[in-house]
Amino acid sequence: MTRMLVTGGAGFIGSALVRRLVGAGHEVCTLDALTYAGTRTSLRGVDPHPRHRFVEGDIRDAGTVADVFASFQPDRVFHLAAESHVDRSIDGPGAFISTNVTGTYVLLEAARAYWDKLPGAAQARFRFLHVSTDEVYGSLGAEGAFSEHSAYDPSSPYSASKAASDHLVKAWTRTYGFPAMISNCSNNYGPYQFPEKLIPLTILNTAAGRALPVYGTGEHIRDWLHVEDHASALDLIAAQGQIGATYTVGSRNERRNIDVVRTICAEMDALRPEAAPHDRLITFVEDRPGHDARYAIDPTRLEQDLGWHAHHGFADGIRATIRWYLENVDWWQPLQARYAGARLGVT
Ligand code: NAD
Repeated sequence: MTRMLVTGGAGFIGSALVRRLVGAGHEVCTLDALTYAGTRTSLRGVDPHPRHRFVEGDIRDAGTVADVFASFQPDRVFHLAAESHVDRSIDGPGAFISTNVTGTYVLLEAARAYWDKLPGAAQARFRFLHVSTDEVYGSLGAEGAFSEHSAYDPSSPYSASKAASDHLVKAWTRTYGFPAMISNCSNNYGPYQFPEKLIPLTILNTAAGRALPVYGTGEHIRDWLHVEDHASALDLIAAQGQIGATYTVGSRNERRNIDVVRTICAEMDALRPEAAPHDRLITFVEDRPGHDARYAIDPTRLEQDLGWHAHHGFADGIRATIRWYLENVDWWQPLQARYAGARLGVT
């Protein structure tokens, strides 16, 4: 049993990770500020749980963060707390700089002070995994894929703030010998994703007979990874990854946005033939400024060095995700007011 601190554990990916870690027998502490994007209902099954502690707190609050380290005494930290929606970062970048950059700095300093005072064996065991995005690398042309060797070239305030946080983590490792690693992941999908993001928004709008907004001509390409495959990668990287290394995480699932939306429409046609064809709801809207054309991940290092493999295929994964949203109205309905009028986003 290991003691795991998860920041942002009431969010989409964090809650999948907390479920996995508690399920594997670990002691877990979630630290989450419960912003508009976080809800404890995403932790159903593990909150409450005898091996899970929930702390409502902000990673920018040095006192709160220091208290969590002192009282919980983690062996590993998974840092996922962030402002995560590109469109919101375009409308208001301030919160992204504050949480993603300053918040990461506050967390790193608290973690370093704690790690510095650990006794020898515990200090050697301690790891900090910073969870980041492939968006830090900017946009790809028609060929190639991002890897650990790709240059940073962020396009949006969101990706720039995540790039800045990655650089802080690298600097803390090089300067202080702090035992951190970074993972840069492609777009996730699956249960408990906040409904302002492309896949859940499309599912819920299709079910309600509302317009399905698609940016530009829908040609933008994303590389979709099931959130449980991402959680398994994070678990493995924190346990066996090399200090100072970056791992790019993806499952070779490139899709044009318009094809993702059409796939959901086709699934809904089969489930609700009386409302078919659902693709009549597709509405092309003005493109997002600075919209990256294509993301793709080369996960070879993660596969070869750590033996990771994705288990969810996109066709089955998207079908299961659609059913999950249709069956879990009690999870998303209370959140509706938080994203009413939100623009469409893909990450
Ligand atoms: P999310 O928006 O669903 O969840 C973020 C969580 O962080 C929420 O529970 C929120 O309450 C919490 N939070 C926000 N600000 C906080 C603060 N100041 N202090 C404490 N908690 C705070 O995001 P997600 O999609 O689960 O993404 C998690 C992480 O993974 C982020 O760092 C994101 O950049 C990264 N990531 C996401 C994707 C994706 O496709 N969703 C892909 C690659 C990387």
